[in-house]
Amino acid sequence: MLKIDETLCIGCGLCEEACPFGAIKVEGGTAVVGDNCTLCGACVDVCEVEALRFEGVERRVGKDLADWSGVWVFAEFSRGRLAPVALELLGIGRRLADARGVKLTAVLFGHMTGNSAEQLIGHGADQVYRVDNPGLELFSDEVYEKILLDLISTHQPEIVLAGATAIGRSFIPGVATTVDAGLTADCTGLEIRAEDGVLLQTRPAFGGNIMATIVCPHTRPQMATVRPKVMKELPYSADRRGEIIDIMPTPRQLTSRIKVLESVQEAQSKVNIQESDILVSGGRGLDNEKGFELIGRLAEVLGAKVSASRAAVDAGWIPYPHQVGQTGKTVAPKLYIACGISGAIQHVAGMQSSETIVAINRDADAPIFTVADYGIVGDLYEVLPKLIEAIERRRGS
Ligand SMILES: Cc1cc2nc3c(=O)[nH]c(=O)nc-3n(C[C@H](O)[C@H](O)[C@H](O)COP(=O)(O)OP(=O)(O)OC[C@H]3O[C@@H](n4cnc5c(N)ncnc54)[C@H](O)[C@@H]3O)c2cc1C
Repeated sequence: MLKIDETLCIGCGLCEEACPFGAIKVEGGTAVVGDNCTLCGACVDVCEVEALRFEGVERRVGKDLADWSGVWVFAEFSRGRLAPVALELLGIGRRLADARGVKLTAVLFGHMTGNSAEQLIGHGADQVYRVDNPGLELFSDEVYEKILLDLISTHQPEIVLAGATAIGRSFIPGVATTVDAGLTADCTGLEIRAEDGVLLQTRPAFGGNIMATIVCPHTRPQMATVRPKVMKELPYSADRRGEIIDIMPTPRQLTSRIKVLESVQEAQSKVNIQESDILVSGGRGLDNEKGFELIGRLAEVLGAKVSASRAAVDAGWIPYPHQVGQTGKTVAPKLYIACGISGAIQHVAGMQSSETIVAINRDADAPIFTVADYGIVGDLYEVLPKLIEAIERRRGS
């Protein structure tokens, strides 16, 4: 447990400030530890008079941190192709690996992966652990988990990144739990802290109202997931060289208590707003379901897809796969046109990486204008028909 030496404690409050769990308080001039202490050691680190110490337990530093080196990206491969998020993760992984002066490794599981390993190298990986086997044709939590765990325990990477996709969300938490590491889900920013090389993992917290930066200073690997379209991939370079290391999975690794009979793509998930270069998005300002006909017409003339705010989805005007934002999809099209959307932080979190943002809103003070490159203040029912007409005219000429 955490012990406080009252003869040394000066009640300065540094420990109270440092505790991420609010588990330590200064009362009557001395620090007092509550039941919710997790033994993370943050208070011990900041105590200048060494009044805090662990007794009867090992501090949660089960690992010699110096033994862990390298940045890994789990390169998701499904339905015969690399998931785009794998390349996006290599973009940020490259930056992190360069900052640490270590190798960037991609871990590729699947069957008939073709030239995917070469693609991963062309997009920034220094080496690829390729496990290509018929037993990996269909995703299985247990099998993926066992193989990744064995690779981690053999090679000891300091950082492991994965996509916050259905597959990543499904098996990465199990891996993190087994290696006794923290896992920060849905990161929107990742960087290396210059002083000690720790990974700073930033993500929205408390319903998106604040951005929290999370560190796991005492355990390895440091694990994080990132949603698709949050990071940017590096351009492919055929000149890049790297090493491909083929690994044969063992019968134990390929054994699972779950037999996957078939993998079927949900009809709804065919609406993939994340792959469109242009999105026309409608919000509560449309006032009713019919408003999406107008949004659809603009989308049609632009060759775009239709997306929406949560308010429009919650109102039942358009199905959930079209939702952009913290609890919807993260998108980064070349052009995002927000119509009748106020620009709540949870919406902006999902579209702020768009190259060009156009906002149409009748309220000149709507927050969406703070992220927009171009703003049109006006009633969308007047603006959109004119816009459609102008585009059609231009197309016609
Ligand atoms: C935990 C959590 C998660 C969330 N996740 C998401 C998410 O993923 N995505 C998301 O979008 N939201 C999300 N939200 C909801 C978010 O907080 C907002 O409530 C929502 O984004 C508002 O949608 P809106 O902008 O369409 O509606 P409103 O905020 O009501 O804005 C409507 C806008 O339309 C304008 N307007 C009205 N009529 C017209 C007109 N005729 N012409 C032009 N402009 C007009 C108004 O001026 C207003 O600015 C989440 C909230 C929470 C708490």
